[in-house]
Amino acid sequence: MPLSKDFVARLQHVVGGQNVLTATEDLIPYSFDGTAAMQQMPGCVLFTTTTEQVVGVLKLANDTKTAVVTRGSGTGLSGGSLPSPNCIVLCTVKMDKILELDRANLTMLVEPGGTTLQVADAAAVAGLFYPPDPGSMKVSTIGGNVAENSGGLRGLKYGVTRNYVMGLEVVLPTGEILWTGNKCVKDVAGYSLKDLFVGSEGTLGVITKVLLRLIPKPQAKKTMVATFAQMDHAAEAVSAIIAAQIIPCTLEFLDRLTIHCVEDYAQIGLPRDCAALLLMETDGHPAVVTEEAAQMEHICREKGCLAVRVAKDEVEGTRLASARRTAFSALARVAPTTILEDATVPRSELAKMIRFVEATAKKYSLKIGTFGHMGDGNLHPTFLTDERNKEEMHRVERAFKEIFDEANRLGGTITGEHGVGLAKKDFLPKFAGDAQMRVMRELGRSLDPNGILNPGKMFD
Ligand SMILES: Cc1cc2nc3c(=O)[nH]c(=O)nc-3n(C[C@H](O)[C@H](O)[C@H](O)COP(=O)(O)OP(=O)(O)OC[C@H]3O[C@@H](n4cnc5c(N)ncnc54)[C@H](O)[C@@H]3O)c2cc1C
Repeated sequence: MPLSKDFVARLQHVVGGQNVLTATEDLIPYSFDGTAAMQQMPGCVLFTTTTEQVVGVLKLANDTKTAVVTRGSGTGLSGGSLPSPNCIVLCTVKMDKILELDRANLTMLVEPGGTTLQVADAAAVAGLFYPPDPGSMKVSTIGGNVAENSGGLRGLKYGVTRNYVMGLEVVLPTGEILWTGNKCVKDVAGYSLKDLFVGSEGTLGVITKVLLRLIPKPQAKKTMVATFAQMDHAAEAVSAIIAAQIIPCTLEFLDRLTIHCVEDYAQIGLPRDCAALLLMETDGHPAVVTEEAAQMEHICREKGCLAVRVAKDEVEGTRLASARRTAFSALARVAPTTILEDATVPRSELAKMIRFVEATAKKYSLKIGTFGHMGDGNLHPTFLTDERNKEEMHRVERAFKEIFDEANRLGGTITGEHGVGLAKKDFLPKFAGDAQMRVMRELGRSLDPNGILNPGKMFD
């Protein structure tokens, strides 16, 4: 049912008239997120500026059993911030303040709507380091990162967003404010509720403050690119690097199609006559960086790489790294619809998974560019398709299903970082099993008895 005028007026009273959008043309930009082929109009979009306003909105919504979909920047790739029909979209981007930088405890307290880059830059200004760096970091919000437990290019060495969340302020669907976590490095008092909210995809509460852990900035970094004539050789090089107990901060790969698209788009000077490219970065103490870079180069040569290019300075390093950072945008130029997946397998199974993706593309006559966080076993097979072509979309769906089944079979997961949302909801029960599904449903019901927060996401 559409939101009534009276209800919208009550929302306007809570957040201010200028912070509520209701005109169709204003709602359209909020009717989709970064996920392809999904769109749904909300009833209204509102921008909160304080925790108290979030409390007011959720109380009104809970009393009237109105659906609320929390939204950061809408870059999500699993349909997490896609509106439910006639829902309230609660957008946090105006809650973007850095509230405190505590140098004594190496923490930063932030509001949820600031971008990841804003957080990373504020840490850098203080001579500190916030490592999680999703490819979307210039745009994605820190609240969205926490809600999705986002990863990034440095995940192999530094972990994902969860590893940097020390505390959260969350407004529960009933309007109650909950604080979980603190600045203590050790704290085992009660259940770790903050870990429940990290990765909860907007289904359990609205995150209104995040206490982040910062670490010292690495003194040195080296960036290099190795090219391979065969994808298998690149996968073997990754396994050999890890087996040699080197943990580079970045170990990313691009396949042939992605390399060509990136080169057409960004003209970085990547060689086109190769089947795979590895982007490798090592950081830390200068002596260790020099040694690790030399070892990685040696391993790549042993595994038959075509060439290794070592960046001579930071400028060239950033340029080479941009090959990976622009991969998604470069692929997205090629076809009307880009569907990016994130099947993830144990690293030992990477070569098998890559071969399977290639075979699946052939089997269904589909164009798939694959890139990803090779050191994490996290692949991004990216379907270049056209959602208007129903017959092709049917083949895409069948290919997806087979890729997820294979990831499961190899001991992997249906999503390494993009979340379940709507896009992978149908695959979750098979992956998670009955007991996990029951516990997740019961947790959801106990925190959100009226089912108002992001209904229909993750599971029904
Ligand atoms: C080009 C591109 C590159 C990307 N690269 C990566 C990558 O390297 N790694 C990676 O992990 N992801 C990546 N992503 C996916 C996406 O950017 C991340 O999932 C990101 O964390 C989403 O942030 P957002 O602010 O856009 O959140 P949104 O898309 O607005 O929301 C995502 C989910 O979080 C919930 N949410 C948002 N804010 C809050 C809040 N304050 N409280 C509670 N719930 C909330 C929403 O309800 C939704 O379920 C990429 C996306 C794009 C388009």
